[in-house]
Amino acid sequence: MVRASQLLHPQREPAVPRPAATVLLLRDAPGGLEVLMTRRSATASFAPGAYVFPGGGIDAADAQAHDIAARRPGQDDLRLTQAIAAIRESFEELGVLLARQRDGSPVAAADIAALDRDAPFAAQCRDRGLVLAADRVFVLAHWITDRDLPRRFDVPFLVARMPEGQSPVADEAEQFEPVWVRPADALARHKAGQFFIIFPTIRTLERLEKFATIDAVLAACASEQPLWTSCPRAGFVQGAEARYMEHEMAFGELALVCPDGQLLHHLDWRTDQPVPLLKNVVRMTAPNPGVMTGPGTNGYIVGDPDTGYVVIDPGPEDPEHQERIWRATGGDVRMIVCTHSHADHSPGARPLQALCRTRPPILGLPSAPTARPASEFTPDRALADGELLTLSGGGRTHTLEVVHTPGHAANHLCLVLREDGLLFSGDHILNGSTTVVDPPDGDMTAYLDSLDRLSAACDTHGIDFILPAHGHVLGFAKQAIALLKAHRLQREARVVAAMRARPAGTLEDWVELAYADVPPRMWPVAKRSLLAHVQRIEALQLAG
Ligand SMILES: [Zn+2]
Repeated sequence: MVRASQLLHPQREPAVPRPAATVLLLRDAPGGLEVLMTRRSATASFAPGAYVFPGGGIDAADAQAHDIAARRPGQDDLRLTQAIAAIRESFEELGVLLARQRDGSPVAAADIAALDRDAPFAAQCRDRGLVLAADRVFVLAHWITDRDLPRRFDVPFLVARMPEGQSPVADEAEQFEPVWVRPADALARHKAGQFFIIFPTIRTLERLEKFATIDAVLAACASEQPLWTSCPRAGFVQGAEARYMEHEMAFGELALVCPDGQLLHHLDWRTDQPVPLLKNVVRMTAPNPGVMTGPGTNGYIVGDPDTGYVVIDPGPEDPEHQERIWRATGGDVRMIVCTHSHADHSPGARPLQALCRTRPPILGLPSAPTARPASEFTPDRALADGELLTLSGGGRTHTLEVVHTPGHAANHLCLVLREDGLLFSGDHILNGSTTVVDPPDGDMTAYLDSLDRLSAACDTHGIDFILPAHGHVLGFAKQAIALLKAHRLQREARVVAAMRARPAGTLEDWVELAYADVPPRMWPVAKRSLLAHVQRIEALQLAG
């Protein structure tokens, strides 16, 4: 875990989320699936003026109405209460009643008309012998309002079929203008600036857009588990607020820099100045963006003015870049570490060393004989696996542990900042692109074994964040590694199938089959990884 003392910003306690429920009422229309939305009052305290699905806070009375609600097996008490709250809210806000008579027949229009939308809901239904159709309300998603917002809700987004023969009538107090809309149209109108919707609504509509019918939506909800659970995080991109879900690329970086969710971090790629991530970690991205380097190669500077600094990956040879690194350290570089020898990582080491009066040692692993000529590299001293690099001063210590991780390159290593549970992953793990495993210096079995070692290190050192050489910080470190490994093994299974389908085939034949999901223009690069898979499959006799 990151030491609280190393966070850049004083932390605030986010508001406690209040339990709520929202329901997406659906109908199958000639043009496809439609969902009912309404516009919130311009003076509402939450999301004023936004188009939303009906819903609101859960009342104590909702939990006391279980006796008049139909429940399906698998629907626990909490889910039942949420469904009742959603049924009550859709009645109060829109006059839509998800209920039936005790004998199962539909609720009569006269019954609905006789109910007072402002009077206690459950008591009225009980008096009239109505059964709330909570068994027809299913959970689609689970949203928890972003940590930075003053009013927060913990809210399942439920789905239900719009009852036959009813039409929505807004209460004209909280909700206005009920509208049936296809998810794709709502999103298009939002993009055009004509339909204001907030982040969870956007993401929910984007998912809903993929379903053709109500039956398809309900089939996806059969497990009783939300399709996703999210508490988004926000930062700035080009000065504008940008929000992200957990699986999206920038989420981890926002979680590292502003764990409490404050909007303080800018996600724009800067090569002209260092980007602080913690008091003892800044990123200095080289001005070498490209197809293979993404936004550019990230160098990291670990340490503080009292301890001096370790520079990880000084980048390609670029005097201005090395000078910016040197300046960010106040000239107090104690060690220069190269994660591996590739041309965008290590050639800056000598020029950076030359800038420093103390001539800090260049550390790493010498390139193997398999390395390409452009990747030849000899450190001043080779780092041992498990070796600790320590910076101390001002009562603080920052300890980097060396982990040998061959696979992307034979001389690749990663570093664990033990005190803060951070993994500097070099090119072994990237955010936003796939690591190339290019034989003979790259090796797929070594790559997968190294992932296992890094996963074990996550357990040993409580690693939450991965700081890659290309891309933003990754969160959920251990899951990210497990996902990477699963993707590689999935690809391996496709390669095995291709080799079995065409036993006498060549790489050209197999790439078409095993990488059919990848655009053909990518096949020349894919063929390098394919070769790595084939070598592993042959060595381990996986194709039988
Ligand atoms: Zn590399």
